[in-house]
Amino acid sequence: QHLTKKFVVESDWLGRPKKILTAVHDVSLAIEAGETVGLVGESGCGKSTFARTILGLYEKTHGTVLYKGRNIDQNGVHADFKRHVQMIFQDPYASLDPRMTVADSISEPLRNYHMCANNQDLKKRVFELLEQVDLNSEAAQRYPHEFSGGQRQRIGIARALALNPECIFCDEPISALDVSVQVQIVNMLKDLQQRFGLAYLFIAHDLSMVHHVSHRIGVMYLGKLVELGPGSTVYHDPLHPYTQSLIAAIPKPDPHAAPAVPAGGEVPSPLSLPSGCVFHPRCPYASELCRHESPVWREVQPGRFAACHHVRGGDVV
Ligand code: SF4
Ligand code: MG
Repeated sequence: QHLTKKFVVESDWLGRPKKILTAVHDVSLAIEAGETVGLVGESGCGKSTFARTILGLYEKTHGTVLYKGRNIDQNGVHADFKRHVQMIFQDPYASLDPRMTVADSISEPLRNYHMCANNQDLKKRVFELLEQVDLNSEAAQRYPHEFSGGQRQRIGIARALALNPECIFCDEPISALDVSVQVQIVNMLKDLQQRFGLAYLFIAHDLSMVHHVSHRIGVMYLGKLVELGPGSTVYHDPLHPYTQSLIAAIPKPDPHAAPAVPAGGEVPSPLSLPSGCVFHPRCPYASELCRHESPVWREVQPGRFAACHHVRGGDVV
């Protein structure tokens, strides 16, 4: 809740911060059990930083992280949270040590948490996890570099599943893969969700794949959440002008459709954010108000949220 992450980009000679980058600005988001929340936005908008800050990979500047209603900074809650919320990365190498066999990588969390009574149990569990991600048990003795990108991602998922998590943060897990492999991984994640009641925070830079898997979608721009709502509604009927521009930029399979219109202009530097609504330099609806006042986050329709002065009941006016 109200999570903010600032990085000191430059310090003076006394170590006092000179330039501060606010990568995540006052973002609140709840993920329900068994739910997939898609988080989209252009690269650098703070999606990964948001996820990493929740997991404690970066120290948060402000805000609280609640796990089942309890602050994870409280005694005892953090260990529980750490075990039940796992992460997979765009590059599975980030979670797989290239010098470790697949079996060693997958069994590491099991050993750390003393999940298996003996080596026999451990071996059985590793094979079971490999099977859950459709990999052969002979993969166990091999090294990450012997596998394709899609297979490596499966290994990363097997490792994330080892501790029976409740939620997995997926940071662009398919962006580096071929489209056919993307579909396989997405279907596998969906199956695993059904089977184990998993929740996902699914981070991606475009909406085209995400809206198939997400119950709800959040859209981030320059560190802020600008829209949140049911997945298909956000995709088919976006409220925020930024979401509209993202969707307009998705190439259409129909050759007669109008050419894709990307959002006008460059993304401003997060070091010198525009005044008022941070999207105003690129927004076709920008008014005087937008240039001076930052829009508040509000429920525009039941279950749909946006931060825009000009969204009224489903339209931008
Ligand atoms: Fe555009 Fe104004 Fe809405 Fe910002 S607040 S998205 S500038 S209409
Ligand atoms: Mg990222």
